Amino acid sequence: MSNGPQYSTIIRSLEPSVPFVSPFTIERDMGRPFRLRLGANESSFGISPKAFKAMNEALETLYWYCDPEAYDLRQALAKRHGVTVKEILIGSGIDDLLGLTVRTFMDPGDVAVTSMGTYPTFAYHVKGYGGKIHFVPYTEDFRNDLGALVDAAKRTNAKLLYLANPDNPSGTHYSKPQVESFLNNVPDCCLVILDEAYIEFAPRDVGTPIQTHDRRVIRMRTFSKVYGLAGARIGYAITNSETVDAFDKVRLHYGVNSVALAGALASLNDPTFERTVIQEVQRGRHEYETLGNKLGLPVLPSYTNFVCFNLQDMAVAKRVALELKKRGVFVRQANGQPFDRFIRVTVGSPTERTIFSEILSEVATLLEVIHG
Ligand SMILES: *Cc1c(COP(=O)(O)O)cnc(C)c1O
Repeated sequence: MSNGPQYSTIIRSLEPSVPFVSPFTIERDMGRPFRLRLGANESSFGISPKAFKAMNEALETLYWYCDPEAYDLRQALAKRHGVTVKEILIGSGIDDLLGLTVRTFMDPGDVAVTSMGTYPTFAYHVKGYGGKIHFVPYTEDFRNDLGALVDAAKRTNAKLLYLANPDNPSGTHYSKPQVESFLNNVPDCCLVILDEAYIEFAPRDVGTPIQTHDRRVIRMRTFSKVYGLAGARIGYAITNSETVDAFDKVRLHYGVNSVALAGALASLNDPTFERTVIQEVQRGRHEYETLGNKLGLPVLPSYTNFVCFNLQDMAVAKRVALELKKRGVFVRQANGQPFDRFIRVTVGSPTERTIFSEILSEVATLLEVIHG
């Protein structure tokens, strides 16, 4: 009767799924590398020279296990954010911390709320732990619908509510008072995950004050974007110390490698590098905006390291993404409403932006010819 080992009920219920198709996979399919890699919101500005040096030095003791408490990094982060070491948790990127949060707060069958079309890894983990995901549509102007998210959390008795601010893929954001009033309206038994992967690119007044006495909020940040350490896989959460203790029961204590820890710590000690990246990204966003206006492809206002060009129509956006791909340019076209009419483009280096501008102009002209 037995057909060998059986997968768990949850695993058997899941459709095969990958949150993102990686540019490496696409390159293997194409049989050649991309010329411009602008589809994954990676930094085009490398890493801090201080991080580079520290990571090289860390190789000398690579035969040791890492510090499972990541003490030095947590201390530096605590100081930076005005909280205590016990209120900081390190993980191998926000993606890891999202999974841990789901595991720590949800039982199979519990409900979590998120926006339809936002960063997909949260929903991926909810499903993977047997939770139910409730999607809330964006507003007409492509913003997370804060009121509807709160209503949905109340209606479904949600354990978790996910909000990216600034948001991916839209790039839109909410200001401090808007987020504060949203947090005040969320029901008491629901934990809000504030994904702040892009907060460093936003003006100072976007980040709400960090109040770790409030057990209802966990904020997540990453070294993948402004610090350029995406491949090193390291991020952190700021939350109540009780919650950090709960995570300690199940987290992978040696899951963040010592090279990443060294790079992250050194990155925090290089404010000049950070400022340069932020300024260059800001300049690049303005260039993209000007380009979009020139080509009749208006962009969504963005406080991140990427910009969405509006093609008004899913089929057109698909065509543009394909034509760009043929010319060696990797950008992302979202699946499904409401973002499938956009192409999302990372802010590249000055050289990359010049090449992108030429290629997008060429593709736009080609489309005009087709539609004209
Ligand atoms: C890029 C991104 C992440 C991924 O962060 P990692 O720390 O690299 O796992 C998380 N959330 C959002 C909204 C992102 O855009």
